[in-house]
Amino acid sequence: MTRAIALHTDNEFIARHIGPGPADEQAMLDFLGFDSLDALSASVIPESIKGTSVLGLSAGQSEADALAAIKAIAQQNQLFKNYIGQGYYNTHTPAPILRNLLENPAWYTAYTPYQPEISQGRLEALLNFQTLISDLTGLPIANASLLDEATAAAEAMTFCKRLSKNKNSQRFFASSHCHPQTLAVLITRAEPLGIEVVIGDEHELADTDGFFGALLQYPASNGDIFDYRELVERFHAGNALVAVAADLLALTLLSPPGEFGADVAIGSAQRFGVPLGFGGPHAAYFSTRDSFKRDMPGRLVGVSVDRHGKSALRLAMQTREQHIRREKATSNICTAQVLLANIASMYAVYHGPAGLIQIARRTHQLTAILARGLTQLGVRVEQQHFFDTLTLATGGATERLHEQARAAGINLREVDAQRVGISLDETTRQADVEALWQLFHNASTQVVFQTLADEVGDQLPEPLLRQSAILQHPVFNRYHSETELMRYLRRLADKDLALDRTMIPLGSCTMKLNAASEMIPVTWAEFGQLHPFAPAAQSRGYQLLTDELESMLCAATGYDSVSLQPNAGSQGEYAGLLAIRAYHQSRGEAHRDICLIPSSAHGTNPATAHMAGMRVVVTACDARGNVDIEDLRAKAIEHGDKLAALMITYPSTHGVFEEGIREICAIIHDHGGQVYIDGANMNAMVGLCAPGKFGGDVSHLNLHKTFCIPHGGGGPGVGPIGVKAHLAPFLPGHAALERKQGAVCAAPFGSASILPITWMYIRMMGGDGLKRASQVAILNANYIARRLEQHYPILYAGSNGLVAHECILDVRPLKDSSGISVDDVAKRLIDFGFHAPTMSFPVAGTLMIEPTESESLEELDRFCNAMIQIREEIRAVEEGRLDREDNPLKNAPHTAAELVGEWTHAYSREQAVYPLPTLQENKYWPPVGRVDNVFGDRNLVCACPSIEAYQQA
Ligand SMILES: *Cc1c(COP(=O)(O)O)cnc(C)c1O
Repeated sequence: MTRAIALHTDNEFIARHIGPGPADEQAMLDFLGFDSLDALSASVIPESIKGTSVLGLSAGQSEADALAAIKAIAQQNQLFKNYIGQGYYNTHTPAPILRNLLENPAWYTAYTPYQPEISQGRLEALLNFQTLISDLTGLPIANASLLDEATAAAEAMTFCKRLSKNKNSQRFFASSHCHPQTLAVLITRAEPLGIEVVIGDEHELADTDGFFGALLQYPASNGDIFDYRELVERFHAGNALVAVAADLLALTLLSPPGEFGADVAIGSAQRFGVPLGFGGPHAAYFSTRDSFKRDMPGRLVGVSVDRHGKSALRLAMQTREQHIRREKATSNICTAQVLLANIASMYAVYHGPAGLIQIARRTHQLTAILARGLTQLGVRVEQQHFFDTLTLATGGATERLHEQARAAGINLREVDAQRVGISLDETTRQADVEALWQLFHNASTQVVFQTLADEVGDQLPEPLLRQSAILQHPVFNRYHSETELMRYLRRLADKDLALDRTMIPLGSCTMKLNAASEMIPVTWAEFGQLHPFAPAAQSRGYQLLTDELESMLCAATGYDSVSLQPNAGSQGEYAGLLAIRAYHQSRGEAHRDICLIPSSAHGTNPATAHMAGMRVVVTACDARGNVDIEDLRAKAIEHGDKLAALMITYPSTHGVFEEGIREICAIIHDHGGQVYIDGANMNAMVGLCAPGKFGGDVSHLNLHKTFCIPHGGGGPGVGPIGVKAHLAPFLPGHAALERKQGAVCAAPFGSASILPITWMYIRMMGGDGLKRASQVAILNANYIARRLEQHYPILYAGSNGLVAHECILDVRPLKDSSGISVDDVAKRLIDFGFHAPTMSFPVAGTLMIEPTESESLEELDRFCNAMIQIREEIRAVEEGRLDREDNPLKNAPHTAAELVGEWTHAYSREQAVYPLPTLQENKYWPPVGRVDNVFGDRNLVCACPSIEAYQQA
C-alpha cells in the first residue's frame, strides 16, 4: 500500500493572517457563550441586512501561488525608457533607503504620529522633510506632505481664496504652462465652489486685476524657465496671492519661489527617490509664509518640549484640521503621504546639498548637450533657457517620431500633433542622449557627445541662478556614508512603536497585518518603473490588475462599479459626493445641496461635503450612539427637495451595527436623496453583509485599513469608491481614461503601485478567508469588550449586548473619581509597551479599541492585562494609596533618563517602568516624556532647530 501524498499546495495564508488558532478561537467563543463564529456573527448582524453579502470570490491561493500569479500580471507591463516628464521622473531609490525604510515594517507599519512619545523617529524624518521643502522653496513653513501635486495645487487655490484680500473675487488664474493633470484637478475642484478658473498664457495677460489668486509653474511644463518677479508684483498689486508649482531638483540651482515673491509653493517630491509607480503614491509638498501658517492644509510637525523640558516633536496646530473644525477645516485631508515624504527626506539626507546639486547639474548638462546636438541635427528646440525639459517643434514628423521612438523602447512626451517633449533625469547617461539623437539622425550630420560636452555651457537663465545656500543643517551633512545612513534609519525606527512591536488597537483605523507577501510586489520594477502617461499598450499588466481588483471590490461591497483613482479615504468621499452632485444635476435637480451628517461622523465627512459645495445639516444621535431616526426623518422632510445626500458610517463610528440602517436609507431615498456609506468600518462587514445591497448608493473603502495597505506612518492610502449602476457615469475621469472629465487626482489610478497589496490579500484569502477575517475581527473585539467590561464601562453595544469590530471604553467617570484623564491612560499604556487606542473619537474622553482579526489571543490578553493593571492603579489613586498628582499615570510615560536621575516620586522606579513582571523580558523605552502641546503651538517651530540649538541639545 502506498500512502497518499497531497499534491496540491496548502493555502496556509488564512491561518497566517488571522491571529487566533482553532483552539484559541474556540476558547474565546466559549468565553462569549457561542458555539461557532457563524453563531456569533448571526447575533451581531441585524436581521434586516442579513444575507446581503454577495462575496462570490473563489477560494484563496497560497502565498507562493498568488505571488506567481501576480508576477505573470506584472510581466505584462512593458518597461520603456521614459522621457515623458510632466511631473514624473525616473529616479534611483538609494538601496539603503529601499531596504531599510521602504521595505522595512518598522517604518511602513507605523500609524499616524498622533501619540508623539512613541513617534519621535518618524516625526524627526518628517521634520527633515519640512526643512528640506522650506529650504528649497525659500518659504519658512512647509507641511508634512499632501497627496499629489495636482491636489496640492487645488489646496493652494482654496488657500488663496481664504486669505486673499479680494474677498468678492471668484476668479483664479492658472497658467497654461502648468502640467495638464494639475489644470484638470483644479477645474474639478473649482466648479462646486463657484470658482472660475481662468486658464491662459501669463505673458499675454493684459489685466492681472480681479483675481483672488494665481498658479504658475516653475520651470514651466514645456521646459521654459520664466522670470516671474514682475508678474508676481502685478498680481500682488491687484491683491491676488500667487502660488508656484515648482520642481524640487531645479530649485537646487534656481532662485526659489519664496525669493521672487510667491506666497505659496507646491509640487511633488517624487523625483527624490520615489519610484514612478504608474503615478503614485508620491509625496506632494506645500510651503508658505509664516503669517499664513494657521490656514495651511494638512499636517504640520512642530518642535515642543516634554515634561522634563527636553526638546520633543509632535503634530502642531491640530485645531486647523478636519477632525476638530469639521466643515470649517482648512482641508479634508487626513491620510497623507508620510512614507513617501520620509523617503524623499532621506534621499536629501543621504545625498546632502552637494550631492543634490551634482544630480541637478548633471541632469541639466545632459539636457544642454542633448539640445545642442538636436539643433545641429536640424531639430527646432523651442527653449532658450531650460532645466531638464525640452519641447521640440517636430511638425509633420511628429507621429512617425513617436513610432520610431517606441520601436527603440523609448517614450517621448506627446505634447500635441506638432511637437514632442523630452525630460531628462537623474538616471540619464551619455548613451541615452546618443540614443535620443539617433531618433533624429540624418546622413549629413555627425554629432559627437564628447565634443559637445566640452563646449556646451549652462542654459539656465543668469538672473535666476540660485544665490542662497541649501540644506546647511547638520542632518543633511552627516549621513552620507551608507553605514551612517543605515544606523540613522535604525536609530529613528527604534524610537517608535509600530506593528512590528505591538498591536496598535486603534478604533476606526484597522491596524491589521500587512503581510510580507502582499508587500513584495510593490517594489518590483514591473510595477515601479511605469510612467502614468505611458501609452496604454505598455501598461497591460496594470490594466489587468485594476480590472480584477475592481471586480473583487465590487464583490466585497455589492456595488456595480468601482473607481480606484482616489488616493485616500477623504478623496473617495469627495469623488463620491461629486458623483451624487452630478447625478442630481443630470436629472435637472441641481438645487439639491443639503447633506445630512450624523453628529457622530468622522471629521472628514463634513469637511468633504463643504468642498463638494453642499450645506451640512447635522442630525442627532440617541443615548446608545445610534442615529436618531426621528430627527433624521424630520430633517429629511424639512429639506425635502433640497436634500442631496446622507453621509453615514456603517457599522457606526460607535462600533455598532445599527438595526435601523435599511429604514434610514429608505427615508433618504424617499425624499430624493442619495446615501453615502462611509466604508472605513468595512472590516466588520466583508463577507457578512454589503453596503451596496442594503441601501448605499456609494461608499469609499480605505484599502489602508480593511485591505492591508500599511499606514506608512500616516500614508500612503487608497480610497476607492464603489457605486450603484446609476452613479457609474459620474465616477472620476482622467485625460488618460475613457471618461476625460472629473479627475480628482493627478494620475488615472491614483496610488497605483500599492494596489498589488490589496490584490494579493484578496487573492490569498479568497471569499471564505475574507468572511472569516470579518468574523474573527468581531470575535476579537467582543472578547476584549467582555474581558474589560468589569473594569471599564463599554459605552455602546447592540441590543444583544455585542459590539461589532470595535468597542469604546468609557473612562470619563474615572476623571471624577480619581482625576485620571483619558490622556493619562493613553500615556500610561506606553509604559506597558502599547500604542494607545483612538482617543476621544467619536466621543470625547473615551478610548476606542479595534483589535482586528490579526491579533492573537495572547496579544489580546497582554493588552487586556495592561488595561486591567491600569485600572488597578486608578483604583489606588481613588483609594488614596497613590497620590492624586504624583502618580505613575499622570507622570507617564517614564523615560530611562528619568529613572537614573534623582527619583522624587511617591511610587517606586519598578512600579514606574515594570508595572507587570512580563515587561522585564521585553521593554519599550520611550525617548521622551509626555509632550507639551500647548507650549509647541505657542512657540511654533516647524523646521529643524537652528544649528546652535542643535549643537546644545
Ligand atoms: C479613516 C477614516 C476616514 C478618512 O480616511 P483617510 O484615508 O484617512 O482620508 C473617513 N471616515 C472614517 C470613519 C475613517 O475612519
